[in-house]
Amino acid sequence: MDSELHPDGARSHCVVIGGGLAGLSAACALAERGVAVTLIERRNYLGGRAFSFVDPHTGMELDNGQHVFLRCCTEYIDFLKKIGAFEQTTLQQRLRVTVADRSGKRGVLSSTQFLPAPLDVLPSLLLYRHLGFMDRLRVVRGMLSIRRTNRERDRERLESMSFREWLLQHGQNDRTIAALWELITLPILNDTIDAASAYMGIMAFQDSLLAGKGMADLGYSRVGLSTLVTEGARQYIESRGGRLIMGRRVSDLRVTEGRVTGVIVGEETIEADSVISAVPWDGFERLLDGEDSDTPLSAVSPPQLEWAPIVGLHIGYDRPVMDEPFLTVVDSPIQWVFNRSLMQESADANSRLLVSISAAWHEAKMAEDELRKMAETELRPVLPETSNASTTYFRVVKQPQATFRCLPGVQDQRPAQSTNVPGLILAGDWTQTGWPATMESAVRSGKLAAEALAAQSGS
Ligand SMILES: Cc1cc2nc3c(=O)[nH]c(=O)nc-3n(C[C@H](O)[C@H](O)[C@H](O)COP(=O)(O)OP(=O)(O)OC[C@H]3O[C@@H](n4cnc5c(N)ncnc54)[C@H](O)[C@@H]3O)c2cc1C
Repeated sequence: MDSELHPDGARSHCVVIGGGLAGLSAACALAERGVAVTLIERRNYLGGRAFSFVDPHTGMELDNGQHVFLRCCTEYIDFLKKIGAFEQTTLQQRLRVTVADRSGKRGVLSSTQFLPAPLDVLPSLLLYRHLGFMDRLRVVRGMLSIRRTNRERDRERLESMSFREWLLQHGQNDRTIAALWELITLPILNDTIDAASAYMGIMAFQDSLLAGKGMADLGYSRVGLSTLVTEGARQYIESRGGRLIMGRRVSDLRVTEGRVTGVIVGEETIEADSVISAVPWDGFERLLDGEDSDTPLSAVSPPQLEWAPIVGLHIGYDRPVMDEPFLTVVDSPIQWVFNRSLMQESADANSRLLVSISAAWHEAKMAEDELRKMAETELRPVLPETSNASTTYFRVVKQPQATFRCLPGVQDQRPAQSTNVPGLILAGDWTQTGWPATMESAVRSGKLAAEALAAQSGS
């Protein structure tokens, strides 16, 4: 038996399965409370779905996809501060996003420091160049309707319709939806406005743009995503007596006398007083596979959620092609373009772009050549300098299982962190946090899981 797998044990011992943001957040919160934590991650790196890797062709550290956060992601920001990583991010002091269209025309969505929230975005909506004047007024009316909506009181109704249906019922039209509403919901919900629930669509505005001054300011990491969290989180956990086991997969939960008392890793059993499962819902389902009907785990049923894909196109040019850190494109499949040369610390004189395509079912099926042609065609009017530049690399990163879909009805399927099984707690962006699949949801779930564990053990 591998002795490395056995903790010394006097303190209460909790195994956390999964080294994504949910697992790291739970492990840090537990370590802080004096619990002996063992975090087990099946891969050799931390970060889960927010990870970076070294591209063998270029030697550069690339993210699996652009990850941004907003100032309203308070738990994610606190987590980064706790592990000493926040300094490696940039957070706008004032919201400003360039919005281009396929003809190259540019507008701006921004907030002004001279007005209180939510009026601070009003001037930019009234001057928004991708809509006619009447449609701009329409959008303002739509924002007011969202602000007036009590989404918890109306939850059942809002969870039974798509956000598009709701917007159409509230005076919006196809043009305002395409040129403004979907521009914002696509990257936040990673789904089309036709499919995402009205509840989540409304949440995406109420908790950011309409939540208070600066709440929609955009932030991003200046280093690779795994680099951002790995050392800080490891040190935070280990310096409090916890440990991380990397590259080992938990295959089963161990149940003794009606409670979860550990996990099985290969041939080994790691005993614990409690277990937090911080893996996605389908991974959790696999942990339960083959449970006999007489164990308490047979009563646990993970939700039936669906995955939505994101496709990222990493493109290098032999010269600068873009001035702003990012922009979004109306009516175009390229959606968001990030200027990684400006955003990352390892910036070089040339231009590195990351085109991020959400809800990318179509693009996930396209071949690299097709994606390359599409990107060249779409980028030309938006960033004319790309026509004169030579492409130095083109790398496609497809993430078919990026986020769970916030379809109507999904909120009621998301389980709370505490379960009916003694010793078993859940975490993960898909558990009940009130947030869509985001880093914020993951970190929140981890913190809630640690609180649920404390409540279960009466401490
Ligand atoms: C391309 C892309 C772009 C995104 N963009 C954004 C964005 O801009 N902003 C934002 O907020 N969010 C974004 N997200 C979503 C965000 O990354 C996720 O919501 C979040 O990282 C989920 O964290 P998690 O810890 O809940 O799950 P995961 O990150 O999936 O972590 C689960 C971990 O458990 C491990 N694991 C699974 N099974 C086992 C097992 N049996 N034993 C041991 N370990 C196991 C996995 O390897 C993984 O490390 C994006 C996601 C992708 C893929």
